[in-house]
Amino acid sequence: MERTFIMIKPDGVQRQLIGEIVGRFEKKGFKLVAMKVMTVSQELAEKHYEALNDKPFFSGLVKFICSSPVVAMVWEGDSVVSTSRQMIGATDPHAAAPGTIRGDYGVSVGRNIIHGSDAIETAKREIALWFKEEEVN
Ligand code: ATP
Ligand code: MG
Repeated sequence: MERTFIMIKPDGVQRQLIGEIVGRFEKKGFKLVAMKVMTVSQELAEKHYEALNDKPFFSGLVKFICSSPVVAMVWEGDSVVSTSRQMIGATDPHAAAPGTIRGDYGVSVGRNIIHGSDAIETAKREIALWFKEEEVN
């Protein structure tokens, strides 16, 4: 069964949106496989976003992800990767449609509440990066 990696970013945790976000995924019918609250190391944040390491916002992004706890999760279900991305909405909350998580709660591109894997292969890489094997089987 398909799986994806979802992370509620520091702004989503601080704004007390954990229950709201988890509720949306549960109500959609996806299965929660693993979930943990954690403070992210610089090393993990840099690896997670390594595809963006040449962008001007990279160091600010890494600093923000490490700034206070996040909620890391694995969700499972049919087409969960693409459906999650639709539920999350566009990267820039100003462009994200109402009804999406970023459209409803996001403030700016640097404070957009949540991360979701962008493809099945990316999801596999991210799940292996964030979780030990025994946490996700
Ligand atoms: P994520 O990977 O966090 O789910 P995404 O896939 O929608 O977001 P990416 O292009 O992968 O978008 O960018 C990763 C993150 O980098 C974005 O969520 C955002 O927080 C930050 N980011 C992207 N573009 C910019 C930008 N122009 N300025 C500042 N931050 C940005
Ligand atoms: Mg991305």
